[in-house]
Amino acid sequence: MIDYKKVFIIYNSKDRALIQPVIDSLSTILDPCISEDVNRAGEPLTTKIRQDIESSNVIVPFLTNNSMSSPWVNQELGYAFRWQLDNDGEPLILPVCKESLQPSGFLTKKDIEMIPLLARDIDETTYRLIKRLREYIDRNFVVIEKVKVTCGNCKTPFDIDIPKQEVIDEAVKEKGFIPANHQGCSMENLLDPRTLTVARHQRMIDPKNIGIVTSHKVGSFSGSPNYQAL
Ligand SMILES: [Zn+2]
Repeated sequence: MIDYKKVFIIYNSKDRALIQPVIDSLSTILDPCISEDVNRAGEPLTTKIRQDIESSNVIVPFLTNNSMSSPWVNQELGYAFRWQLDNDGEPLILPVCKESLQPSGFLTKKDIEMIPLLARDIDETTYRLIKRLREYIDRNFVVIEKVKVTCGNCKTPFDIDIPKQEVIDEAVKEKGFIPANHQGCSMENLLDPRTLTVARHQRMIDPKNIGIVTSHKVGSFSGSPNYQAL
């Protein structure tokens, strides 16, 4: 039984610092199931891991020199590709691959699609990965509806409706933000459109005081000239 929000993530623990921000962003819209390789060489895949792979909608392996030389990662990848073959091409296996890396084995298949792992611009990797995941996961019906936000001011978690991808793309192009009001503490959280995480926060404009518009149709609040209307 496929869990449509479940994304199975494979990586090597040596790459954790690089990959953690990507996982944090994915966690705002999906349920990542993380399989980290920590000294597991020689162990067989557990039933739990096999079940997790089989119930995931997408498998995202992070391919680096560390992960490619890990027997555990290779074992998981092998299982994922075999499962995909026996299961009419599902789930999608979408590797995030370090640019200089030459993949081997199953990963040399011609039609395999990859997202570049840009160590110097990891937010760009996150953006491209999320964009592609939304396209794939939402292809038959909308699965990804909300973004989980943690208020930058009071740290309370809350949800907003996820903006359409075109709105996000436009905000990226214009170097703008995605606004997320937290009514609880009257803070406007501004989300980085590439990572969907809070870039900064500011006091919400009170329409009663400024006497103009009541919605976000105005691009005039301070400090955010490229602000994008939702
Ligand atoms: Zn708050």
